[in-house]
Amino acid sequence: MRLTALILSLFLIAPSVKAAAVKKYAALTFDDGPHPVYTAKILKILYDNNVTATFFVVGENAERYPQLVKAEHDLGCEIGNHTYSHPHLAKTHIGKIEEEIMKTDGIIKDITGMTPKLFRPPEGFCTGQIEKELIKLEKTEVLWNVDTRDWAHTETDKIVKNIKSNVKNGSVILFHDYTSPPTHTVEALEIVVPYLLDSGFELVTVSELMARKADTGGLSSFFIG
Ligand SMILES: [Zn+2]
Repeated sequence: MRLTALILSLFLIAPSVKAAAVKKYAALTFDDGPHPVYTAKILKILYDNNVTATFFVVGENAERYPQLVKAEHDLGCEIGNHTYSHPHLAKTHIGKIEEEIMKTDGIIKDITGMTPKLFRPPEGFCTGQIEKELIKLEKTEVLWNVDTRDWAHTETDKIVKNIKSNVKNGSVILFHDYTSPPTHTVEALEIVVPYLLDSGFELVTVSELMARKADTGGLSSFFIG
């Protein structure tokens, strides 16, 4: 009788064992903004879905539309440096590159109060010399491992497919605030953000993703420095 009671009590107090869902993380990133039309639409989608992202802003655009950079920051998004005038770094003197990065740092700091830690080179082009410069400026170079190809005027369904086929835990996804028309970034985002959330992804900033190295199986080639 006592044994039965013991077994019964064990059943009653035993916590229901439920396999914890494995959390996955990904970072949405947007280059080349802010843009007076599209950035606000992107921010609305992020806000509606309660997610954050990282914006690699161009200094001259940030200077022109500071209220949009402020809105990104206020939403909890991260602001990264994408140079001042988006030059091709292969054709730019290292002194000029440093000047572009520092000028953009100053603009972002004036708007948000924070100096960006992240840098993304235009078109992802970098050299050993530039990487040394980035270390000197205490910047982490961030590339990507999922290219939506929105920059190539890719149709909405193809952008969505590019993401669905390639996204995995720890992914950094490349979008652009704006590309020359036609641009399908906003339409694709409306589909893809709920899809990623339904698929168990938490959408975080790049710095948050880097801090979660242990949960994402390690991140390597797209973060340098
Ligand atoms: Zn760019």
